[in-house]
Amino acid sequence: MSLAEQALAYVRAISPYQPGKPITELAREMGIPVGSIVKLASNENPLGMSPKAKQAVQAAIDGIERYPDQFELIAKVAQRCGVAQEQIVLGNGSNDVLDLIARVFLAPGRSAVFAQHAFAVYPLATLSTGAELIATPAKNYGHDLDAMLAAIRPDTRIVWIANPNNPTGNFLPYAEVRAFLEKVPAEVVVVLDEAYNEYIPPAERVDTAAWVKEFPNLVVCRTFSKIFGLAGLRVGYALASAEVAGLMNRVRQPFNVNNLALAAAAAALDDEEFVSASYQLNRRGMAQIVGGLEKLGLEHIPSYGNFVTFRAGNAGSVNQKLLQQGVIVRPIGGYGLPEWLRVTIGTEAENARFLEALAKAL
Ligand SMILES: *Cc1c(COP(=O)(O)O)cnc(C)c1O
Repeated sequence: MSLAEQALAYVRAISPYQPGKPITELAREMGIPVGSIVKLASNENPLGMSPKAKQAVQAAIDGIERYPDQFELIAKVAQRCGVAQEQIVLGNGSNDVLDLIARVFLAPGRSAVFAQHAFAVYPLATLSTGAELIATPAKNYGHDLDAMLAAIRPDTRIVWIANPNNPTGNFLPYAEVRAFLEKVPAEVVVVLDEAYNEYIPPAERVDTAAWVKEFPNLVVCRTFSKIFGLAGLRVGYALASAEVAGLMNRVRQPFNVNNLALAAAAAALDDEEFVSASYQLNRRGMAQIVGGLEKLGLEHIPSYGNFVTFRAGNAGSVNQKLLQQGVIVRPIGGYGLPEWLRVTIGTEAENARFLEALAKAL
């Protein structure tokens, strides 16, 4: 007897998540020194973490024997977003929060809608509950909200939307998102994942936290992993109605965010200088990489995130040649885009290294 046969069929059917290749793994495989590898594969912040967050982590080491208290970070996020503390749910990364929403609303016999080429965690969170996943075809590589609305069935309880989307970088103007929210049935939760919110030009950003008061079925998710530079500490949060947040908190592990992460996130929220420097570096780096891709005659998808996806033809071979030169980007065949590669915007020097290596790889 194989024990796997005893496992839930819907768990066995899940394809595993493929993370960006760690620097240490490439170093082991190719014998390249860690220091000469450039990783532009996981949309991490090339500036590292805010110095204020670093100080907060160091200070929080005293007290690590105690269980964490989420109060301070929740109070800060609530104040920043203009919502009540009861409307906030913290996660061990925002992936954790996505999972909590799925566990509250999905089960076998229910379904969730997501868009082709959208973030891989939506299928994972959905399928791990035994619910059915309904994928709608992409429009210009991004979400087609009309198709998503039409795909909603009586058993649908969640619609997943990433704005901007990863890995394509597409952005839905907020007027379209709002029109969608006005049409979605009240019993369907709309998850608006804004992991890259802080990279959207301010003129195009909208206060979606305020929408949570208007739409009780809206859950907005954000993360400290991207512009705040805390991917390794794992902190994210959801903004929801107090009712939905309360349900998510029932299935949440009581101590899901650790002391160091809580301290770092609270300090990072206050470090506007670091966030602004990260935003500016990304704007310049995006122009540098997009300019370089155009020079090489490569098509790209205009991106609102800290990464850009480009058509590399034989992406497997190009990726291999980049790896041999110590440059890690992200193949996205698993997202239904086998000819494309996604590159994270790095520092000016990292971007130049990538473009040089890419020219050779082609
Ligand atoms: C990176 C990312 C997240 C955040 O993941 P964490 O678990 O917070 O590190 C969420 N959604 C999307 C679309 C992302 O790209």
